[in-house]
Formats: sequence, structure tokens, C-alpha cells
Amino acid sequence: KKWIANPLIRLEDINQRHTYVESVINSSDKGMHIQSVLNEIGDLERILSRISTGRCTPRDLLFLKQGLSAILPLSEALLNISEIWQAQVEKFLAVDQVITLISDAIADDAPNTITDGNIIKVGYHQELDELKEIASEGKGFIAKLQQEEREKTGITSLKVNYNKVFGYYLDVTNTHKDKVPEHYIRKQTLVNSERYITAELKAFEEKVLGAEDKIKSIEYELFQQVREHITKETKAIQQNAKCIAEIDCLVSFATVSSKMNYTRPVMSENGILSYKRGRHPVVEEMLDPGVQFITNDCYMDLTGDQVMMITGPNMAGKSTFLRQTGLIVLMAQIGCYVPADEAEISVCDRIFTRVGASDNLASGESTFLVEMNEAANILNNATQKSLILFDELGRGTSTFDGLSIAWSVVEYLVKQPSRSAKTLFATHYHELTELESLFPKIKNYNVAVEEYEDHIIFLRKIIRGGTDNSYGIQVAKMAGLPDSVIERAKEILDNLEENELSPNNPRLKKQKRGKVQDENQISLFSAPAPKPSAVEEKLKELSIDHLTPLDALNELSKLKTLISEN
Ligand code: ATP
Repeated sequence: KKWIANPLIRLEDINQRHTYVESVINSSDKGMHIQSVLNEIGDLERILSRISTGRCTPRDLLFLKQGLSAILPLSEALLNISEIWQAQVEKFLAVDQVITLISDAIADDAPNTITDGNIIKVGYHQELDELKEIASEGKGFIAKLQQEEREKTGITSLKVNYNKVFGYYLDVTNTHKDKVPEHYIRKQTLVNSERYITAELKAFEEKVLGAEDKIKSIEYELFQQVREHITKETKAIQQNAKCIAEIDCLVSFATVSSKMNYTRPVMSENGILSYKRGRHPVVEEMLDPGVQFITNDCYMDLTGDQVMMITGPNMAGKSTFLRQTGLIVLMAQIGCYVPADEAEISVCDRIFTRVGASDNLASGESTFLVEMNEAANILNNATQKSLILFDELGRGTSTFDGLSIAWSVVEYLVKQPSRSAKTLFATHYHELTELESLFPKIKNYNVAVEEYEDHIIFLRKIIRGGTDNSYGIQVAKMAGLPDSVIERAKEILDNLEENELSPNNPRLKKQKRGKVQDENQISLFSAPAPKPSAVEEKLKELSIDHLTPLDALNELSKLKTLISEN
């Protein structure tokens, strides 16, 4: 998470991570071995924070030992892959003391609580061991005492029991009451039995119960001592945890890169951002089975290709292309390989994005203000080395306002040398494609589609040139807007395209002749439209696109039957 939030900006550092990743990829099964060593290591940072706040359990210490003990085999496995890991391995600090302490002190099957005992290993503390012996001897003592008392008194059902109120006692059923010897002291009378103690039993009880309490308090005390001792080594453990986390990330990069066919990008500082057959790493994974991700190329530099002005229909894949470019740069700069067949990436200092529409009503910011705030941040902070992704700008206001703002933002980015960042600009303002003829640094692109009858087929290919159609109405139809709304939208679009926009000309009102203006409004003068027949209704419901020839024949036969029935 930290690596994603803070990508690297120094060329050497990025290349070093890529080299690590490459070495693991090239090592094939050795990489798998490293994965299995890493799997033995828990979240050391979290365990450490529990240790320093005093909330750890004996089992946490065992996990810590397990994790720290894996450092040696991990280092060996890495060096076995390549000598280049030496620098990383050298970052590990010695923590043998901690490992030995936990090994000596904490029982291998210690519980997950600190109050129930059984924490400390036998052999670690002499007094504790002696007390444990007394406590365990106690069990044998009771069995022996019970047997002896049964023999002495002839009470075969006599039992030695324990409860928290009376401690240890001898239980004699009423049938044998008369056999009870005099030195038995009665403690409690129950319906079926009597409970007694003896001096011998009392003495034993004091010894055993005292030992058990003492065991618990000594174990607790020793556990705290061990914990405190480990706390003194926090710095070293933290450093090692960080080092392991880095290795874990690099090995994961290698694993995902080889699994997903990512490539090592060539990093530079020459201002060029270029990749061939790039993919969006998430969208390509999420597509329905059978749907193929269409790859795209990208080329940008600081001279002739600073701005990619991308127009194209809704749903065509503009946002996907923008984000994939951002992700490819981000992935490269965190040290991962990238989802493309080849890539040359000049290190970016920042990736700026203005995507999606959201508001911040609680702080008094409307959707449009948020959009403008983001744009202002970009224009005030971008540098020549930045990458900017504008996924629509100026949409939350009137068309003319929005278009004007978008236009002047792009102009600013190409005219101000200090702000001339590489920019991907996706827009539905087709007028912006005119900028290409005014500024040589701007190049128009669009996402190819093919029209087929009333439908559009998305080809998802980014190609050179602008477009002047958004096919918004077709996409609205795909989404399921009512037919009457779609038809009316088409009329309005025709009207708009016929005339220039002007407030004095209410041409949008124009309707094609013969159209009913509102399906629910009955005309005062014309007779109500005749009710459609059953056959007409049935025909209306039929979706021809989804019929097989056989279905069609069946439907035809049903229609004929309907006519004869009527
Ligand atoms: P709008 O203008 O409506 O925002 P858009 O042009 O930005 O649309 P995207 O949101 O990028 O379109 O893409 C729409 C959908 O098309 C995506 O959710 C994805 O499922 C699919 N898609 C986009 N690009 C590709 C691609 N290269 N290959 C396969 N599917 C893609």
C-alpha cells in the first residue's frame, strides 16, 4: 500500500526493483521456494505493535520467532537465485537473541492467553519447575490417598473431590456414614452424602493450591519479562519486518508479472512514454469469459505528441485507455512489470487525474466546483515530467462554458513550458479536435466503432484522427431508456444538427409529422387511436433479434391461429 501511494521517482531505484523482479522471474522454481519460505512468516509489524503495547499473547511470540527464524533460509534462497540480492539481504539485522529467548522461554504449545498458565517452557526457571512438579505430584497424591482411605475405612465408594468453596474434601455416601473414623472433620451435609476433611488433606491442599497460584503468577511475570526484553529489540525487528515486506512485494511482483505476462519496462528520463499492446490490468481480468481485451498502443513525448486528444463514442473505451496508461506508469514506478508487450517509460514526477464526477456537499463543494478544484490543482502543480489524465473536463456546466474551459485548459498546457506535461484528454466536445490544427504538440485520436444498422459495434481500438459522433443515443438505448424517449432524443438531435444554437429559435420543439406528442395525452379533436388488435400486440412483443428460424415458424403459426380465433 505504501509503495503504491509513494511510487519511486529515481531512475536507479526503479531499475533496481525491476532487476530484483527479473531475477525471480528468471529463476523459475527457485521463486516458488521463496514464496513457500515467505508463507511461513506472519505479519511481523502487527505482532510487534501488539508486543510494544503489551497486548500480545504467548502465541504471538511464537509467530514472531517463526517469522524471524525464516530470515536465514529466506536470505539463502535469495542469494541462491542471484548475487544481486546481497544488498537487500545485508539490510537484515541480527535478532538471534530474540529467537533464542523465545525458544528457551516460551512453550511450543503455549496458549493464546496469558492468564491460564502453560506459557513457560520446562527448564527455563528452576522455582517454576519445582512448583510444577508439586502440582503434578498432587494428582498422584490424591489417587493414592483415595485408595488408602478406602482400604483403612472399608468405604469402597469414598472419593476425594475438589470444589472452589471447600477445596479438597472426602465424599462419603449416607450408607457408609457409620464407618467414618473420628478424625474426619465434617464440612457439609448433602441429601445423599456427607463431606469431610482431614488434617492431612488440608496440609496437602495448602501446598498444591499455593503452588498452582504461584505457578500462574510466576509464569505471568516471566512472560512480561520476555516481552519487555523483546521490546528493547523493536528497532531491529522493525527493520527486518520492513525488509521482509519489501522482498515479499518484489516476489509478488515477479509472480503476478509472469502469471499475467507483464513485461519489464525500459525506464528513462527522456520524456517519452510509449508502450505497445498495452492492457488494463484489472479490466482484462474482469471481462466476461469469451470476451477478449483489445490491446492498444500509446506514444507520447514532449515535442510532437504531448497531448492525446481522445474523442469517441460513449462506452468505447476512452476511460479504460486513460486509466491503463496511468496504471502502466504507476506499476512501472513501484517496481513492477507492466501489462504491455513492450514499454518505454520516462520517469514521471506525479500522475494527476481528473476522472469521474463526485461532489463534496458536506464541505460546500458542488460537483462542478470539485471538478474545477481538481483542474486548478493540476494546472498549478503539473510539471514537464508529470502525466495528466483528464477524463472529461467541463461537463458539469453549460456546454459553451464547459467547452471554453476545456479548450483554454489544453491551450495552457501546451503553451506554458513549465506546465507542459504529457496529457491524455478524453472528451465528448468534438470541437476540441480543432486544436490539433493549431498546435503541433496535440494529436487527435478516437476509439474505433462500426455502425451496423441501428447498432454500434465497439472495436476498442485507439486510432489516429478525431470523430464527431458520440453515439450517446445508441448507448442510452442499450441501457434501456423507453423507446419514445429515444425517438424524441433523435428528433431533437436532428434539429440541433440542422441549426446553430440560439435562444430565439425554439426549434427543438419541432416534431416529425404524424407523431403523438405524449403517449398519455388524448387529443381533443382527433378521434382516439384504434385499439391494436391481438395480432398487432403479439407482433409488437416479438424480439426478432432473438428468434431462431424454428421459433419464427412457430410464432407465425400462432399468429395465424390468433387470426382465425378472432
Ligand atoms: P464514456 O464516454 O461513456 O465514459 P468510455 O469511452 O470512457 O465511455 P470505458 O468506460 O472506457 O468507455 O469502457 C466501457 C467498457 O468497455 C469497460 O467497462 C470495459 O468493460 C469495456 N472495454 C473498454 N476498453 C476495452 C478494451 N480495450 N477491451 C475490451 N473491453 C474494453
